[in-house]
Amino acid sequence: MKLSLVVPCYNEEKNIPLFYEAVKRDFKKADYDYELVFVNDGSTDGTFKALKKLCVGDIPVKIVNFSRNFGKEAAMYAGLKESEGDYVTVIDADLQQKPSIAFDMVRTLEVQPEFDCVAAYQAERSERKVLSFFKNTFYRLINKFSDTEFVKGASDFRTFRRPMVEAILQMDEYFRFSKGLFSWVGFNTKFIPYIAEERANGTSKWSFIKLFRYAVEGIVSFTTAPLKIATYTGLLTSVLSVIYLLVVVIQKLFCGIDVEGYATIVVLILLLGGIQLMCIGIIGEYIARTYVQTKGRPIYIAKEVIKNDKYKQ
Ligand code: UDP
Ligand code: MG
Repeated sequence: MKLSLVVPCYNEEKNIPLFYEAVKRDFKKADYDYELVFVNDGSTDGTFKALKKLCVGDIPVKIVNFSRNFGKEAAMYAGLKESEGDYVTVIDADLQQKPSIAFDMVRTLEVQPEFDCVAAYQAERSERKVLSFFKNTFYRLINKFSDTEFVKGASDFRTFRRPMVEAILQMDEYFRFSKGLFSWVGFNTKFIPYIAEERANGTSKWSFIKLFRYAVEGIVSFTTAPLKIATYTGLLTSVLSVIYLLVVVIQKLFCGIDVEGYATIVVLILLLGGIQLMCIGIIGEYIARTYVQTKGRPIYIAKEVIKNDKYKQ
């Protein structure tokens, strides 16, 4: 098997047949074997049914059917694990990422042996200014504090060579921030710009809150800088309070000024209380992840893995 297309699907009932046709069309000129590895991530619509219909076609199709929704990260992990190809492409089912680009990615890897991965990044993005501001801030922060490089706009739409896939699979951590993992394993990645199409059917599963949580995930997974910031904030407030203490003592002893302080005290208590809670929260984020990771629960649970009969024995 030369190529595996790994396709995470969550409620993509209408897109699956379109996606399949698009792949068949765009890979017509492929002079190699390829398989489709679909991961049904606990869809609540007819996605699984639509996937099973594809099994009668003439392309090798594998379906990993999750027992519930585990999220795209888990779906990608499962897809990579079940893939058999020497090259593996991760691609969305909603046709925002054209299969023809995946075809070109494979060709790029074939002619450029110095690269182990071709990754698409979104060249143009039509999104609201606020969102783009938050995204820019995220990339600035994470690149400043983390040793791992994060390329702005880089998507999960990538084609890997097998050794890189094996490296990614070695990282079986529960909280997966794939953009970071792909970069952390090293290897040479070629970034190519692409323009995301409109979704063929359905809506994106990303809300602002989800994106925010995902960003926190990225930061907590790839840097412990927030813990250091908590420490330094604590140190700074301690130093400031010692200075203030000296000021108050000097005022009282040498200038005879009685320090009136209801407002000051209230403000300080609230400020310090806030800082303390924030720092505990930061520590909590790390401890919570340690706790969940130590439980060693699997990244996903598959009810079944179905393979059609187009696989060569
Ligand atoms: N997806 C998934 N599990 C989820 C959410 C999404 O497998 O919990 C799949 C989805 O079916 C699609 C891909 O991940 O194939 C990208 O999702 P979406 O289109 O919602 O994200 P966007 O393109 O807006 O980044
Ligand atoms: Mg999409």
